[in-house]
Amino acid sequence: MSEEKKLSRETFINGAATVLGSVVILGKAGKAFAQSSKKAGKYVLSKGYAAKNKSGKLSKWSFERRELGDDDVLIDIKFSGICHSDIHQMRGHWGPQQYPQVPGHEIAGVVISVGKNVTKFKTGDHAGVGCMVDSCGTCESCKAGEEQHCDNNATLFTYGYPDKTSPSGITQGGYSSNIVVKEHFVIRIPKSMRLQDAAPLLCAGITTYSPLVKSNLKKGDKVGIAGIGGLGHIAIKLAVAKGVEVYAFTTTKSKVEDILSFGAKEAIYVDSLEKLKAYNKTLDYMISTIPYNYNLGAYASLVKPYGSFTQVGVPVGGELTLNNFAFIFNRVNYNGSLIGGIPQTQEIVDFCAKNKIYPQIELITANEINQAWEKVVNKEARYRFVIDTSTI
Ligand SMILES: [Zn+2]
Ligand SMILES: [Zn+2]
Repeated sequence: MSEEKKLSRETFINGAATVLGSVVILGKAGKAFAQSSKKAGKYVLSKGYAAKNKSGKLSKWSFERRELGDDDVLIDIKFSGICHSDIHQMRGHWGPQQYPQVPGHEIAGVVISVGKNVTKFKTGDHAGVGCMVDSCGTCESCKAGEEQHCDNNATLFTYGYPDKTSPSGITQGGYSSNIVVKEHFVIRIPKSMRLQDAAPLLCAGITTYSPLVKSNLKKGDKVGIAGIGGLGHIAIKLAVAKGVEVYAFTTTKSKVEDILSFGAKEAIYVDSLEKLKAYNKTLDYMISTIPYNYNLGAYASLVKPYGSFTQVGVPVGGELTLNNFAFIFNRVNYNGSLIGGIPQTQEIVDFCAKNKIYPQIELITANEINQAWEKVVNKEARYRFVIDTSTI
């Protein structure tokens, strides 16, 4: 560890540094730190929970974020949701990672400073950050509000992606005290909505909202949702709010009552694939959030011929076994979907605020994160863990 880094860490341990306004106010140790490196003095100090290797076990880590640029917003993070993707990525399930890495892409907090070109936000506003923090901004996909599909491959995801502006060399996510993000990638959160309720909308919410909206559902259509965890439970609430009949499929019996309370017409406990047969060709559309390999054909066959089935859960290595016998007979269109663009992310936050749609969350402290991850893996989350980041 370099002297500078050691010092900056001590600064935090001593509680001597506070980020206030656009200036990083440093205590005794911080002054020495600022003098030791001109550049480092302008960095925003942050503390978080990071994975240090692919065991994925998280522990405290102090680090620096880039200095606030003219187009940037500095957010004091209040809450950060736990997404299954955090676990997959930190454990190397989707490819090798650089460590230390701070996960978290369901970020909600308060704006504490803005760059001089920023027009959408001011100090004190409530703001959120989801799965991405930058893109080229000029290609057709970016211009169409689909920044997650930047044609120039410049989509910068919120953690673990190479980022020249980041002192650690990669983007660092929301299990932390603050974040510096380009204005375009910051979402307004209406003050009528609690920040802890807004956080899960920024990944779990938008990931299911986007394909639901694109599928052009009509009131009264029958929609299937498979996998009722963080994503699935919000999908039920969103679909019900859009006026469709929801059929929710779960492999966890104890979730049945909750599912009905979320407004689903039916909750189907799938203890054997035989249970699915009664629903063959009955649904207009279906989404699966299941993040592990499973019998996809058996579920897709519940959709009416020429209807669509969207997979949003991403298993280890992204791989799903798809037996084509199911698809040549069921004539269902299979597709995948990746989060949603910035305009649509703003849309879902506004939609949920207006319709009072809130995820079912369980607030935890930072020292409970590792335990919460095990619960997510063991399907014991009810339904989204949200970290109170003041405890980091
Ligand atoms: Zn996520
Ligand atoms: Zn682009």
